[in-house]
Amino acid sequence: MIHPFPAIVIEDINGKQVATRRDLTLADLPDNEVLVEVAFSSLNYKDGLAIQGKRIARRLPMIAGIDLVGTVVESRSADWRAGDGVIVNGWGMSETEQGGFTRYQRVKPGWLVKLPDIFSAEQAAAIGTAGYTAALCVDALEDWGLPRNAREVLVTGAAGGVGSVAIALLAKAGYQVIASTGRVEAQPYLSSLGAAGFLSREELQDKGPPLQQERWAGAVDSVGSTTLATILSQTAYGGAVAACGLAGGADLPATVLPHILRGVALLGIDSVMAPAARRQRAWERLARDLDATALAHITTVEPMSRLSELAPQILAGKIRGRVVIDVTR
Ligand code: NDP
Repeated sequence: MIHPFPAIVIEDINGKQVATRRDLTLADLPDNEVLVEVAFSSLNYKDGLAIQGKRIARRLPMIAGIDLVGTVVESRSADWRAGDGVIVNGWGMSETEQGGFTRYQRVKPGWLVKLPDIFSAEQAAAIGTAGYTAALCVDALEDWGLPRNAREVLVTGAAGGVGSVAIALLAKAGYQVIASTGRVEAQPYLSSLGAAGFLSREELQDKGPPLQQERWAGAVDSVGSTTLATILSQTAYGGAVAACGLAGGADLPATVLPHILRGVALLGIDSVMAPAARRQRAWERLARDLDATALAHITTVEPMSRLSELAPQILAGKIRGRVVIDVTR
């Protein structure tokens, strides 16, 4: 084991939350049952907020990072042994629990998902919370009974992490996917993931009538606000929208009309506290349906030392796909 080891720690400096690279020892970690040597974490929108001091951390000091992928070093739980490849997504890491931007972390046994054999640690980190959330969205739409008919399924924030994986999973499941993006230059990338057509971000941002022409069988939305309201007003009779994000705003200026006149469902998706069975199912979908070529298209790898530069970029919507964070560098 390496002592001391680097970590990105959020601290209070003059009343502000500031993320700093610190050298830690095992004594600095919480007393949870499973010690994991972390290989990779990833950069999610929420990590961007945390690193930029936007008060994601609810107690300090806090090791940032909502994801980790690595190998069990020691375990006081019968469920996990040294050498097991494991994933943790969410469970309050970086908010109330110490997170994944670190070489080592101690976690609770119930938080761990076994690393699927088909994925390397780097690939699982590339999927991360954003990709696993995309899988939760697709599972929710299928559970609703989203029909595979002539109508299209919309994905917003398409070139982002959730959006990229959602496109690949929906296309693989047999849906006609339309990608809504603010980046025209991302269209070839989105086509390579399975998008059959495009819509500009702006087309969904204007507040229109509460019931518009029926257009979508369903949608995965990571934007929120007027974008989500517009999608609901354009969703066809009996359709459903899986809403997971707020990249465009946390408000929802909508009416009940799509719900009470067209039976449209708004399916809320939370990844942080999702129960283990739902996580397991999402990771099984990812292992089955997300091929290595799509993953390679989605992924870039960056050292942990660059997080302070990358955080503002993800908040500005400038990161394409998924960024894996190599915690050894
Ligand atoms: P990314 O930054 O990777 O993707 C967000 C995408 O949204 C951007 O790439 C951009 O796509 C689009 N976008 C950015 N800003 C705006 C804006 N102002 N208006 C409209 N579109 C915008 O983030 P993630 O994919 O990691 O997360 C997406 C959202 O989902 C975030 O809000 C995040 O907090 C949330 N989330 C929620 C989870 C949950 O458990 N509910 C779990 C994971 C994420 P483009 O350039 O293609 O338009």
